[in-house]
Amino acid sequence: MTKLALRARVVFPVAAPPIEDGSVLVENGRITRVGRQVPAGWPVEDLGDALLVPGLVNAHCHLEFSSLGRRIGRKGIPLPEWIRRIIEKRPTGKATAKAIDAGLQESLRCGVTTLAEICRTETDAYRAAVDGPRLVLFQESIGFSQARAGSAVAAVEARLVELDGLANSMGKDRLRLGVSPHAPYTASPSLIRELVSTALGRMAPVSLHLAESREELELLNDGKGPFQVLLEERGMWDQWVIARGSSPQDYLRMLTRSPAALVVHGNYLDHPSLAMMARHAGAMSLVYCPRSHIFFEHKTYPLPEALDLGVRVCLGTDSRASNPDLSILSEMRVAHRLFPQVNPEAILRMGTLSGAEALRWDEVGAIKPGGWADMVALRLPTGATGLPHELLRSVLRDDQPVERIWLGGRELSTEPAVAHAGK
Ligand SMILES: [Zn+2]
Repeated sequence: MTKLALRARVVFPVAAPPIEDGSVLVENGRITRVGRQVPAGWPVEDLGDALLVPGLVNAHCHLEFSSLGRRIGRKGIPLPEWIRRIIEKRPTGKATAKAIDAGLQESLRCGVTTLAEICRTETDAYRAAVDGPRLVLFQESIGFSQARAGSAVAAVEARLVELDGLANSMGKDRLRLGVSPHAPYTASPSLIRELVSTALGRMAPVSLHLAESREELELLNDGKGPFQVLLEERGMWDQWVIARGSSPQDYLRMLTRSPAALVVHGNYLDHPSLAMMARHAGAMSLVYCPRSHIFFEHKTYPLPEALDLGVRVCLGTDSRASNPDLSILSEMRVAHRLFPQVNPEAILRMGTLSGAEALRWDEVGAIKPGGWADMVALRLPTGATGLPHELLRSVLRDDQPVERIWLGGRELSTEPAVAHAGK
């Protein structure tokens, strides 16, 4: 693989306006030119009536649940109850490594070429990652009581050193690291602040589940409710950890020092909190997980409000414990169905460039000269006509899987069996 020219009905660079009858030149895995002309001597592959878009970016996932055949619990299950069940279903040992491998392969087949993973298992489970999408591994940390913060930070730092070994062997083009204090109901403010400092020392991104459920808001404000009961049950409760009258905004404030912060879910962020995120949009991003949101029957997601305010919104699948699969294209389609007033190009940006920007990964998420040739071809439904954004809308209304996938200029199979052996 040295030279490749792809032509499509429309190329969506995302970082630049769409190009009808566009072409992309690829050399040694990287994009060298985007436009209409192909210089003489380049072998052109015509994709026909297809849209060529950047490889999709999944900004939030827990791969350890990728072997689950179905979601855990019933639709509308309260989050604290679901967490009780998930603790029981968590795989261990070889089963975890197998699930992670299955999730990596499934993601690639769905056109996800960059993935942010919440990592809590042994490093060896990620050896298969060399065969999967580009990864950001966010080392997870849990420690609610004040007394736990010191040992929890030490554990994260030790694990990061271990993961550095894997990252060095794979290269920074394939694997990067971040830190993830889990959520306000499992990580104390002092633990979160210390982990933000750890992230700053490495210029690494931070990921935090925040404002996910009403029960979380109740815990922050009153120090009571189902999460207090759950923490009590697990011997983790400490009444001095959260100041009464706290809110998600207090946690956003802790994240403002991060080199890059991913605020995961944010289902119940109010207007002042979203405005604060918009003010810090250079470093702070919101990760919307549409189908996980539907599964838990949360109140309507504040997507139009967040986008209007200027919040960077990207997309995540969360895990198969609350989602039927790991397809970002499906998340884009659901977001489009729920919010038809949002421009389809904004939805495409959420599933590509916004995720890359949130992760501070400059060379992915867009079709641009110098960037990696991570791309996905989406077949247009028969008879689709109109301007580029109308064609994109017709693909978002359709249900066809991604047609073709390139990772670093190398074409991957969309078929399960071949996908593994063919790379
Ligand atoms: Zn999650």
